[in-house]
Amino acid sequence: ERVEFVGFYNQIIDRFEMNKDENMEFERNLPKKNMYVWMDKDKLTQVLDNVISNAVKYSPEGGTIRFDAYSTRKQLRVSVTDEGIGMPADTVDKIFDRFYRVDKSRAREMGGTGLGLAIAREMIEAHHGKIWAESKEGKGTSVHFTLPLMSQKRRGNS
Ligand code: ATP
Ligand code: MG
Repeated sequence: ERVEFVGFYNQIIDRFEMNKDENMEFERNLPKKNMYVWMDKDKLTQVLDNVISNAVKYSPEGGTIRFDAYSTRKQLRVSVTDEGIGMPADTVDKIFDRFYRVDKSRAREMGGTGLGLAIAREMIEAHHGKIWAESKEGKGTSVHFTLPLMSQKRRGNS
């Protein structure tokens, strides 16, 4: 279905903001204009739920999570950036593999299965987008993804 992405993204962030620890800061860097994407809302909700809950889960108390979205001519680019524990450079691509978790002992305490980002990658690729991460150990992590934007002119028949 055709979805206005900024409104959709704001609603998901709102839901996390209501439940967040009071010491955690949320910062939104979102465009004012409407951006339309053809997508499965449930699937994109699942992607964002996992990416944002990872950012929360791997952040220290009092960390800031930044939410960005901007558009280039044909693409929407979305990022979630935390100031959490980060990970070594050689693992940032592996976190999208099934069951991969950076630190086994740490992961056990945190709960979860290590499937979240593998599912997110499948869903983003099914929407003809890409997903990747950047991270510095001890500094934080950004997860980025792209989605094709619907052309404004032709939206009536697509
Ligand atoms: P699940 O999502 O299935 O509950 P999970 O969160 O461990 O479990 P993924 O979301 O797939 O699994 O993430 C894989 C691994 O990548 C995590 O176990 C963690 O080690 C690492 N990771 C993901 N996001 C972050 C982040 N924001 N900061 C630091 N490490 C992260
Ligand atoms: Mg997860």
